[in-house]
Amino acid sequence: MTTIVGGGPLSGAMRRWAAIILASLILSVSAAPVATAQIGQPDIIQEHWYHSYATLTLDVNAWADEYPEIVNLLVVGQTELGRNLWMLQISDWSEETKPDGTAKEVVYIDGGHHGNEHLGTELAFLVAEYYIEGWADGEQEIIDVLATTELHILIMLNADGNDLDTRWNVNQVDLNRNYDHYWNTCPTTQPGSAAFSESETLANSIYMNETVPHADLYITMHTGVWIMLYPWGKWPEQPSDWEMFHFIRDDVHTNISDIPIQNANQGLYPNCGTSRDYGYGVMGYPTFTFETDDEQWLLGTVEALSERLGEELGVMNYLIENIWYWRARLVVDSLEVEDGKVHLSVSNLGRASTSNATLAYLDEDGGWWVPGGIEEVYLAHLGLWDEVHTCGGEWGLNLSIPGCGFGVNATNSTVTTLDFRGAPISSEGQFYLVYQKRVIDSSMWVNESVNQSVVEMKAGGSGLLPAPSMLLVFVAFALAAINSRNRKFE
Ligand SMILES: [Zn+2]
Repeated sequence: MTTIVGGGPLSGAMRRWAAIILASLILSVSAAPVATAQIGQPDIIQEHWYHSYATLTLDVNAWADEYPEIVNLLVVGQTELGRNLWMLQISDWSEETKPDGTAKEVVYIDGGHHGNEHLGTELAFLVAEYYIEGWADGEQEIIDVLATTELHILIMLNADGNDLDTRWNVNQVDLNRNYDHYWNTCPTTQPGSAAFSESETLANSIYMNETVPHADLYITMHTGVWIMLYPWGKWPEQPSDWEMFHFIRDDVHTNISDIPIQNANQGLYPNCGTSRDYGYGVMGYPTFTFETDDEQWLLGTVEALSERLGEELGVMNYLIENIWYWRARLVVDSLEVEDGKVHLSVSNLGRASTSNATLAYLDEDGGWWVPGGIEEVYLAHLGLWDEVHTCGGEWGLNLSIPGCGFGVNATNSTVTTLDFRGAPISSEGQFYLVYQKRVIDSSMWVNESVNQSVVEMKAGGSGLLPAPSMLLVFVAFALAAINSRNRKFE
C-alpha cells in the first residue's frame, strides 16, 4: 500500500514498522494490555490506542455531557453479552429543520462489525470527533454542516468481539454476513442461524428502518484492503445507481484521494448478507463499505490516529458535506396546462437519476388526481369491452407508459407531456412532483410541491373551468374601475 495520509510523512510500510515497534514497546511495558490495561487506558494516549468498549463508553458519555446542544446519546440495543450499543446523534438540535425550513439531511454511519478491525472503528470515532470538536471550536464550516445535517453514528457494533480482538461476535457469527439481503446465498463464513439472528445486527436494522429510513448516505467502516466498496457484494453487475457511484469515485479521485472505489463483488470477492447490500438493496441508501488498511494484530498506532486516517477523514467530509446531491433533486422549470395535457420541463440537480417520476394534482376541494383516464378497451382474448385506466399497472400507476410518468437522468433535464384528462385543474390547486430518490427499487419516494410561479394555464376551448380566484380578481378589477374610490376590495 502506498497511501500517503494527509499530514502524515510516513509511508504505509514505514507506518507499519513503526506501529510494530510501538506494539513491542507496549508489550514489553505491560504484560497483558488486551485483557486488562484497556479498561484503564489514560486519555493521554487516546490518539494511539484503539478503543475498548470501556473507553468508548467514557468518551461518548463525556461528549453527551459536555455538548448537549449538539450530542444526543442513545442506547439502541445490546450486544449478545449485554454491552450497550451507543448511538450518537449529532446536529444543531436548537433547530428542527434547515434554516430554509426543509428537513435536515440524514447521514448514517456504523463501525466495528468486525471486532478485530480497529482502524475502521476508529474512523467512525474520528468522524464524530471531527464534527463535535469542530463545532465546539466555532469552525464555521462545521457549524453550517450541523445546521443542515444530522449525523447518526454507531461507532462499535460488535463490542464483545472488539474487546476479545476477534472478527466474530460471541456466538462466532460474522455480523457482516447476518443481514437480511440474500442471506447465506454465497460461499461465506459463519453467517449465523438465520438473517438477523444476532442482537447486534437486529438492533442495527431496527434503527435503520425506524429512525433513519430517509438517510441519503450510509457508510459502514471496516479494515482490510485500502478500498471503498459500493454495491453489490452479491452480484458482479453494477448497481442501478452506478452513475452516482461512478460520479463519487471520479470526484474523490480528482480532488481528494487515490483510494480504489469499486463494486464490492469485483473489488473484493462475492459476499452476501452484508450491511452494505442491505443498506442499498433493502433501505435504498447510497452505501459504501469504507475499508482502511489493515493492522488487525496491533493494539495501537505510533502515528496519531487523526493523522493516520486524515485522508480517509477527508473523503468522509466530502461525502457528508455534499449529501444533498446523493439523490435525485427534481425542479420544475416550466409547467403548462393545455387541453387536459400537462407539458412539463424538469431538471434534476442531483447526482442520482430517477426512473419513476410523475406529477400529482391536488384540486381545490382536496381531491387528488394522477395521470391517465378511463378508456373503453376491447379485450380480444375475452371477446368483450372493458373499462381500463390508461396508466393502470398491476399495483397502481405504471409510470413507464408514455403520458403517465417519466425519468430524469442525473444532472440532466427532461421534457414530457402527461395526460391529465378530466382533472379539474385551476390556479386554486397545487401540483406535486412525486418520485423515487434513486433508481434502485427500494429507494424512498418523495412528494414535493411545484413552485406555483412556473405553472401556466393556457386557454383554448379545453373545457377548463376558470379559476374562482381569477374570476374574483376580474370582477374586483371591473368594480374598481366603475367606482375607483371604493376601497372595499383591499
Ligand atoms: Zn470487516
